Amino acid sequence: EISDSKSKLQIMLKGKRIPVFERILIAKDGSNIPVENSVFVVKGENGEVEFIQSIIRDISKRKEAEEKLQKSLEDLEKSNRELQQFAYVASHDLQEPLRMIASFTQLLEKRYSDQLDDMAREYIHFAVDGANRMQNLINALLMYSRVGTRDDPFQPTDCMEVLGQALINLKQVIEENHAIVTNEELPIVIADEHQLVQLFQNLISNAIKFRTDELPRIHISSVTTGEETIFSVRDNGIGIDPSYQEKIFIIFQRLDGHRFPGTGIGLAICKRIIEHHAGRIWVESEPGKGSIFHFTIPIKEVTPNE
Ligand code: ADP
Repeated sequence: EISDSKSKLQIMLKGKRIPVFERILIAKDGSNIPVENSVFVVKGENGEVEFIQSIIRDISKRKEAEEKLQKSLEDLEKSNRELQQFAYVASHDLQEPLRMIASFTQLLEKRYSDQLDDMAREYIHFAVDGANRMQNLINALLMYSRVGTRDDPFQPTDCMEVLGQALINLKQVIEENHAIVTNEELPIVIADEHQLVQLFQNLISNAIKFRTDELPRIHISSVTTGEETIFSVRDNGIGIDPSYQEKIFIIFQRLDGHRFPGTGIGLAICKRIIEHHAGRIWVESEPGKGSIFHFTIPIKEVTPNE
């Protein structure tokens, strides 16, 4: 402390300014008071040191608020981590009993087929169907909870390759629907490649799934500004009512559940992936006229953002 003050004094005597610094003062009652201290050398007409002015400001209120904020942030991170861990463990552990339900119900149908009437077979069918749907939900939930807990490091990622991989994974759906997917040149961004493939895949598969009678046409483009790349995935599907355009990104929120199969997790995963990359995702749509999903990836984001 003394040598520190001494060196500060020396710097000031050489005519340089020292920046405002923080220190702890001890009050009469022994308590610590954090303060901000600014020190100036005031010189006389001939350049001689006249006096040293030290201004001390009590910053205990600000320090207290900062500590509180820091503590809340840490608590929030901890509870987020715990929640993620819980979702992961729960969905993982639910898989095994579910598999038993599905396989033994199917076994029942196979072995006792001649003793069952149509009604019994129908009940078994419902049970197996329910188990399969639950399996899909659990898989999706697992995938959701993995974003943020099992991430790869961010690396320069060629979005042309990412798109190519997503299209390979969707080959069957694209062919079945005779979908036409076109794209502009896409850039290299700093990202988790696996997650970007997942993101493109979810958006393109939705664009095909929520189609009208017209052949699905999907166009992928991007614009890079100074700070970020904005990607757009445009379709000519059924579109989304304005009042639902924010809700669809929430887990399990679906609009057309009875008409289209799905789990309602796809867009929640997209949102999570984009937040992990410190970007934004939103939709622009008019019912009956198709939708455009936009998302951004910041230009210089090299450290993952939880
Ligand atoms: P899922 O596809 O399993 O239903 P998502 O989270 O991917 O779940 O999507 C949530 C809801 O958003 C969908 O149920 C649908 O109503 C709507 N939606 C998503 N993508 C599109 C799209 N391209 N066109 C129209 N509606 C869409």
